[in-house]
Amino acid sequence: MAGRAGEAAFRAKQIYSWIYQQFVDNFAAMSNLPLKLRQRLEEEACIGPLVVRSEMSSKDDRTRKILLELADGKLIESVLMLYPPLGESSARATVCVSSQAGCAFGCTFCATGQMGFDRHLQSGEIIAQVLHFARELRATPWSAAGLPGSTPIDHITNIVLMGMGEPLHNYDNVLQALRILNSAAGFNLGARHMTVSTVGLVPAIRKLSQEQLQVNLAISLHAPTNEARSQTMPVNRKYPLEELLAACQDYITATRRQVTFEYVLLAGVNDTPERAQQLAELLAPLKQFAHVNCIPVNATSAGYRPPGPDAIRAFRNILFERGISNSVRAERGDDIAAACGQLRTRFENRHKAIPVV
Ligand code: SAH
Ligand code: SF4
Repeated sequence: MAGRAGEAAFRAKQIYSWIYQQFVDNFAAMSNLPLKLRQRLEEEACIGPLVVRSEMSSKDDRTRKILLELADGKLIESVLMLYPPLGESSARATVCVSSQAGCAFGCTFCATGQMGFDRHLQSGEIIAQVLHFARELRATPWSAAGLPGSTPIDHITNIVLMGMGEPLHNYDNVLQALRILNSAAGFNLGARHMTVSTVGLVPAIRKLSQEQLQVNLAISLHAPTNEARSQTMPVNRKYPLEELLAACQDYITATRRQVTFEYVLLAGVNDTPERAQQLAELLAPLKQFAHVNCIPVNATSAGYRPPGPDAIRAFRNILFERGISNSVRAERGDDIAAACGQLRTRFENRHKAIPVV
């Protein structure tokens, strides 16, 4: 059987293995391909057309962030988050991937949302972000300082689509990327180790529930009433909470999988006991299939502040009392502007042309 390029199908398998398992970034290194084919590929195709423009590590080296320039000059961010082993669970290396350059949804607390939308990423541009860090970890495995004896981690264990952009707005390219990352001939990462986070695009959530792919779904909820949610998330006017929750219920029925609800805590805006009660009420019908992830906001130029530890504890206790499982995301990487969009904003501000007066 011959592929579209007129080559035997096993060649595709070999190329897959070089790119997704050996992580090579040039065709010349693919030593089991005929020289002629390598030369043709060099001329007609390219691997990972990304240039690293800026690279930062947090002081403890558990968060590494890169700013990547795409072939057309657009800038995106990707983050690697490293977690040492904890009790029963082994060490994790999670890549936070961008799905678009910019974002069209304009959430008020989000640095990416304030930039506006540039374009969708191709599936190759999504995958290239993962391969960048996979390469880095393979070359230099990471072990937590102060944890002697723990096995160094040399591979990516999790992928979250929580970088710049709205993954379900770029549905086909994101799904293609996830399938390649999941496939045994490709990157071979279990679907249960991948998470798609969405602002709440109802038709796309319904479509996702019909895919035979066991990825995790996270919904950016961030407010428990339509009135409050529409103030920080304009998308709520198009897909209000009733429709969003109905789509989540159907997703759960179709997949029997738990859904995570992300709740960015904005001090004095959505962190009151009343909001916690309303949130518990909203999610009660989903029973044990709903999990809330509380995320103290990373301060951006918008002026929101994270609540203090007491307010966070009080908020979570109300959820617990009402039987809603919840966790709080540990803040990390603050010293390197870890919230999505912040590094690019900082970079662009620094490189802005100084107006001539
Ligand atoms: N567009 C998708 C995925 C990218 S954003 C979505 O909105 O879900 C990933 C997560 O980061 C979302 O839950 C988003 O609300 C959150 N986020 C955005 N700005 C943030 C900030 N300043 N601090 C903390 N989390 C933020
Ligand atoms: Fe876009 Fe998500 Fe940011 Fe909202 S939070 S603006 S959907 S990237």
